[in-house]
Amino acid sequence: MIVHQGYRFALDPTSAQERHLASHRGAARFAFNWGLEQVRASLALRELEWVMGLPRTESLGWSLYALRREWNAQKQGVAPWWGENSKEAYSSGLAALAAALDNWSQSRKGKRAGPRVGFPRFRRRGHPMGCRFTTGAIRDDEERHVTLPRIGRLRTSEATTALRQRLTTGTAWILSAVSSCEAGRWYVAFGCEVQRAVVESNGHDDTVGVDLGVITLATLSTGEVIAGPRALRAGLRKLRRLSRHHARCRRGSANRGRAARSLARHHARVAHLRRDHLHQLTTRLAKSHGRIVIEDLNVSGMTRSACGTVATLGRNVRAKAGLNRSLADASFGEFRRQLEYKCRWYGSELVVADRFLPSSKTCSRCGTVRDGLRLEERVFGCIACGLRIDRDLNAAINLAGWARPDVAPSAGETENACPRGGQPGPRPARPVDAGTGITPESAGMTGGRCHRPGLTPAS
Ligand SMILES: [Zn+2]
Repeated sequence: MIVHQGYRFALDPTSAQERHLASHRGAARFAFNWGLEQVRASLALRELEWVMGLPRTESLGWSLYALRREWNAQKQGVAPWWGENSKEAYSSGLAALAAALDNWSQSRKGKRAGPRVGFPRFRRRGHPMGCRFTTGAIRDDEERHVTLPRIGRLRTSEATTALRQRLTTGTAWILSAVSSCEAGRWYVAFGCEVQRAVVESNGHDDTVGVDLGVITLATLSTGEVIAGPRALRAGLRKLRRLSRHHARCRRGSANRGRAARSLARHHARVAHLRRDHLHQLTTRLAKSHGRIVIEDLNVSGMTRSACGTVATLGRNVRAKAGLNRSLADASFGEFRRQLEYKCRWYGSELVVADRFLPSSKTCSRCGTVRDGLRLEERVFGCIACGLRIDRDLNAAINLAGWARPDVAPSAGETENACPRGGQPGPRPARPVDAGTGITPESAGMTGGRCHRPGLTPAS
């Protein structure tokens, strides 16, 4: 099968090359702002004509094609220096503008999912705009070098072996290259078409449920707990310290600029750490399990914060729940995205559980749904059968069970329960209807759609 895949490498440019890269970024920004000015002027003129009852001039086209034609007609006048940069830089800026205008207009018509998109705004100096090259000399040279049009041969900070091997065996073709800057470091991302072997199966036949958390990266239904990187936790502490320092510097001072740069570098480091560990986790899951069951989290709405995985924030972390939540939110979407394509690559199956499955609140042994599991309760206690089990493990087992509705949550799976398993009588948080195990609130909240045959409470 042919897939589109990106290969991104950190660059190690000379200072002259860095200036050239920055110049292309500035050119993209210039074209974006110039185009936005034209669009705004055209809109204002048409509105004035409408108010005064005059015949209206034709609107400026908002497509990349129309914007580029307009730019080519006017560039000699507005930017006589345009020849210093590749024409692709201006095209990148105009493409970004066309996309922004389209997003705004689709959102306004209600044709675009997600929160409302505002009208594009002018981009400030230093905006991290990428420059996309689609033609010219785009190459991955021998060890640690790449070539971009106009900019030339650049050294990379890391080996480009992964891409080179595919290029030499003729299983990948470079379609484009995007140069971008993130927290002071330059990157190039090659957009490639890659020929991958079709894998029917990865040789595993098991089902594993995965519950993502913030304190621990993930809990598997096999009982395995994958702790997040220690460096990440330390990184979050440092992030708070740097943010505080930045906030206390006087606006516009050199100190504040320095603090902002160091904060940005640290933000990037934390993001990279998280991304790397997420990649390692998803690759391992896709390669070593036949079927992976994950939760369907409503990432944008976070309506599940009362019972979903984000709710597994512990007491000590709640103070910075906002920060954690944003990190967790970002990861859930990314986790699912990575699993979706990696399962295809490596021949496993991804099952996304029903959004209304109360995986955290359901007993994985008898199926009783508990009401009002508090955020800081790390251990799930079942009032019906007396099971005591780690909260995340319980949720993971429920997810694994959801994919096999013919198999009721069995005692066999709960053998991995925490050492205190079997202790009778944990206190119920709120009165629960003894017959169904469902209180009016929980039934109302989940709309009664949460029950699959295998999870129907044993009454
Ligand atoms: Zn139970």
